[in-house]
Amino acid sequence: MRTPVIAGNWKMHKNVNEAIDFFSAFRDRGNREGVETVICAPFPALPALTEEAKGSRIGLGAQNMHWEEEGAFTGEVSPTMLKALPIDYVIIGHSERRIHFAESDEMVRLKTRSALDHGLTPIVCVGETLEEREAEQTREVVRRQVVAAIRGLSSDGVTRLILAYEPVWAIGSGKSATAEDADEVIRFVRKTVADQYDQQVANEVRILYGGSVKPANIDSFLAMGEIDGALVGGASLDPESFARLVEAAH
Ligand code: PGA
Repeated sequence: MRTPVIAGNWKMHKNVNEAIDFFSAFRDRGNREGVETVICAPFPALPALTEEAKGSRIGLGAQNMHWEEEGAFTGEVSPTMLKALPIDYVIIGHSERRIHFAESDEMVRLKTRSALDHGLTPIVCVGETLEEREAEQTREVVRRQVVAAIRGLSSDGVTRLILAYEPVWAIGSGKSATAEDADEVIRFVRKTVADQYDQQVANEVRILYGGSVKPANIDSFLAMGEIDGALVGGASLDPESFARLVEAAH
């Protein structure tokens, strides 16, 4: 049985005070057994949130990291810095990083491996753009991104990571994929993992859907056999709506 994951991606929203306010409103409802709840906040809010989250089951994550432990990389944050907070999750290869910050498949691979080596759970994002979907390249693109991200990992490493299928055209657009479409691509992602490793490894990996998930549509995604939860942007910013997503997965 794969434990469902509901992960919030706050993107570049909420300063430290806003993050603390969110947490006080969310904490009791978000603190549930049977679902892995994660909030991926901007770096400046993470130290305060680790204090707020003490004694709860709510996990915390960053939205990016460098793969090296330290060095002359101005503006970057390392896996050891995250672990020291402590933070347990990190989003890797979000489409906004790939598109606006030129993150390549190779950088995603290095970050994924480094996160696992440092005991962090990477939430690795893959997904096609609208042009790629219209050119019927969805499978080709998703396969390339998945294969690149997990290349060279041990089977144990692969079972510890979380994948998120996020079609770029569905992110922040209000236009989610249908649950059937998302389930089909996620089945294909799992098959890709099975081709690279084996079916047992593939069966253990949690694969989330992301892209305009909200309380009104979460049930349709969670009802699908292949979808193990959601990576949520907009709807994770409000404690009430994020709590409803967690409750749906419970
Ligand atoms: P959205 O974002 O839920 O606002 O569409 C999802 C994401 O980018 O992870």
